[in-house]
Amino acid sequence: MSSEKKYCCICNNTGVLHSQVYYPNFDLSSIAYCKCSIGAQLFAKWCQSNKVQESIRNKRLQEVERALKFSNIPQQWQDKSFSNLRGCQHIKQLLHDYLENFYKKKIGIYLWSIDSRTGKTHVSIALCKKIMDRYVVPAIFITEEEMYTRIRSCFDNHSSSEEVTINKFKKINCLFIDDLGATKITKWKLEILTGILNFRLMNCKPTFFTSNYSIDQYQKKIAQVCDRPQRIPMRIREMADIIHMTKS
Ligand SMILES: [Zn+2]
Repeated sequence: MSSEKKYCCICNNTGVLHSQVYYPNFDLSSIAYCKCSIGAQLFAKWCQSNKVQESIRNKRLQEVERALKFSNIPQQWQDKSFSNLRGCQHIKQLLHDYLENFYKKKIGIYLWSIDSRTGKTHVSIALCKKIMDRYVVPAIFITEEEMYTRIRSCFDNHSSSEEVTINKFKKINCLFIDDLGATKITKWKLEILTGILNFRLMNCKPTFFTSNYSIDQYQKKIAQVCDRPQRIPMRIREMADIIHMTKS
């Protein structure tokens, strides 16, 4: 056997083909690379180029923008950040550590307190915006009730199907569900929520919750309408760090 490199008769060892291809991941058109080892090397080099890296970043910025528009952050909440959150030093430190390890953890947070005035929503919005800014990761922030409203509204207006909307909540990189358990619980809602959380758990997509209930209390609420009330709480425990928020 000869140690000579194999000759590629598709590209004549140039690594490139005489055609243009659209690369959806980069949102760029460019020459097509050959499948051979020379082509693969050239393609890898091209992927690292400034042009491609900048295009990837722009594409992600657009996704972040779209997700933010889809979110339902009330106007008066939009300037919420960690710097204008009074007190809560302990929570700030925990979330600072969380953000440092965001990519390693691939897990969300369940932030709860019985007292509704502890600033959970403020903290959650601040965290959502920080993740989007720092890591350019698209995120949807929405109350549990509003999430069902969006899905239900697909029955009425046929602009998008119910499944398309559910998929948005399943597939978005980060999902923030505000005020879990505040809505009237129905079997339909539990089915929808189970489907969304299941998908997100399986695909390691961080999900964040705020609630006025501990997980045990939430499970008792579900038990009033459902035979298997442990299904959702079990998933939440698996997919999120549980933080009990207290004032100070
Ligand atoms: Zn080739």
